[in-house]
Amino acid sequence: MIVKEVYAKGILSKSKVFDYTINPYIGCEHGCTYCYARFMKRFTGHSEKWGEFVDVKVNAPQLLQREIKKKQVGRVWVSGVCDPYQPFEKEYEITRSCLEILLEQAWPVTIQTKSPLVIRDLDLLRKSNEVEVGFTITTSNDSIREIFEFNSPKIDHRIDALKELHSIGVKTFAMIAPMLPEAEGLVAQLHGKVHYVLVDKMNYHYADKTYRKYGLEYAMSAEFFAQKKKELVDAFKKEEMQYRFIY
Ligand code: SF4
Repeated sequence: MIVKEVYAKGILSKSKVFDYTINPYIGCEHGCTYCYARFMKRFTGHSEKWGEFVDVKVNAPQLLQREIKKKQVGRVWVSGVCDPYQPFEKEYEITRSCLEILLEQAWPVTIQTKSPLVIRDLDLLRKSNEVEVGFTITTSNDSIREIFEFNSPKIDHRIDALKELHSIGVKTFAMIAPMLPEAEGLVAQLHGKVHYVLVDKMNYHYADKTYRKYGLEYAMSAEFFAQKKKELVDAFKKEEMQYRFIY
């Protein structure tokens, strides 16, 4: 893993998904094979493999402190093109420092991660009604997870984290995207731990080679996504859960 401390020029960026986004890191140690954020390599001059480099924006909190005073309040997505709680966050606490600033100023925040490290920041999260925490979980089968997300936290660790957040009143959601084989098994596991679930097939083809290598091509077809949608809808209805499909 190649780690570099860098000084960013800006941190609170406009976003098409929410009003703003903050990415405290460039690159992501989780290195998921399907990750769309690998396009960042082009913009940041990285030739290393996705998942094998991380630039730490060490001045992100100082930038945010300045920028937040000049911009109109809006929801901030933490993060769009990296996991804000990837392992280096334990050491650097850049996400935590940014979160402190946002919540002090009462800005609404949507956190999206795959890491239970977010639990470290419960002291901050429980102070705000305007924060929600989402976990991306793509399958209910850890062997499938290992194929596509070999360096990411285990599924039950993510679900335990959701349970803990939900139990203290933090708004939680799960994002099933991309939808990998056996995603339907997640519905029962998520019951009572999330306020809602978002589902997107999000098949960007970055992981085509991985699908083929493991004989999973069937899970890339339109028929597969249509069939899984039906199964998921049935499961959501049975569990009386809120859900939204983005495809
Ligand atoms: S955790 Fe998210 S940002 Fe990180 S590699 Fe995986 S998909 Fe990409």
